[in-house]
Amino acid sequence: MAEKKTNYDVIIIGAGPGGMTAALYASRANLSVLMLDRGIYGGNLNNTAEIENYTGFSSIKGPDLAEKMYQGATQFGANYAYGGVTAIEDGGEWKTVTTDMDEQFRARAVIIATGASQRHLGVPGEEEFSGRGVSYCAVCDGAFFKDKQLIVVGGGDSAVEEGMYLTQLAASVTLVVRKDHLRAQPLLQDRAKKDPKLKFLFSHSVTSIDGDDVKVNGVHLVNNETGDKSTMPIDGLFIYVGSVPMTKPFESLGILDDQGWVITDQKMATKVPGIYAIGDVRQTPLRQIATAVGDGAIAGQEVYHYLQK
Ligand code: NAP
Repeated sequence: MAEKKTNYDVIIIGAGPGGMTAALYASRANLSVLMLDRGIYGGNLNNTAEIENYTGFSSIKGPDLAEKMYQGATQFGANYAYGGVTAIEDGGEWKTVTTDMDEQFRARAVIIATGASQRHLGVPGEEEFSGRGVSYCAVCDGAFFKDKQLIVVGGGDSAVEEGMYLTQLAASVTLVVRKDHLRAQPLLQDRAKKDPKLKFLFSHSVTSIDGDDVKVNGVHLVNNETGDKSTMPIDGLFIYVGSVPMTKPFESLGILDDQGWVITDQKMATKVPGIYAIGDVRQTPLRQIATAVGDGAIAGQEVYHYLQK
């Protein structure tokens, strides 16, 4: 396929909250900007039912916030295109970005904003029943489980928030937590404990997932304190056991830590001049919409200074 080359001042890889904010700042500084994303803009906002810890909104649906951010990001001329990035080649002043659609773009600066994807449990049955009772997105799939018996695996903010979302649809939801306590923030824990349809199974792990020809019908569990094994009949399970960075295409740049997160300085710069990283993909103590937006503002401004030099 013929290569299409297009030059920009900045290419932003990933159009989540961080990427869209960087696009707003960079384009408002009069830079030519391309946002590339392998899916619809918004990133994980599209999988989030309700957001109530983003300043300015007492509560807003994730996709609605994505739409508002997109309007802001593109108002000064930033472009948005589909394309899963497979590589960045650092040619010094110019970087070449290649996509899985065999397109190549060039830019003098690149901002990596690819975020993180959900970690899989890695137990037998998980891949086999994915989409047939195993899900990683309550907002996308919850409606299929009206009045059903569900489990949610995990004890962090995502598991607790999405578990409470699912109790609005399902007959009951059991949170299976591997330790004897939750990791989620206290406010969410308090709310969860008051949810009459949410049950907790602490100190247990799912060891395998069973099903018939059509869908999931149960799980095998182990008690992590006693070693006792048990089974539980269920109609579906939602897995929220943390996240992994989406950084495979950037491994050869030497900018990742040993777990794959991108290392940056306070200006969001990696050790490769002209390559920046923002949001959840970064090695950072807090992964929130607000922190991604803050990172995006810094990087959008920093690329302007970098390109002035
Ligand atoms: P997380 O905070 O990393 O929590 C992961 C949970 O899964 C923990 O309970 C962990 O248990 C458990 N876990 C990990 N591996 C497991 C395994 N193999 N089997 C069973 N359980 C396992 O992930 P997250 O909840 O997705 O949150 C990711 C980030 O997004 C966090 O920074 C979070 O604060 C943020 N977030 C914020 C909000 C909000 O502010 N409203 C909402 C969602 C997410 P251990 O505790 O035993 O390690």
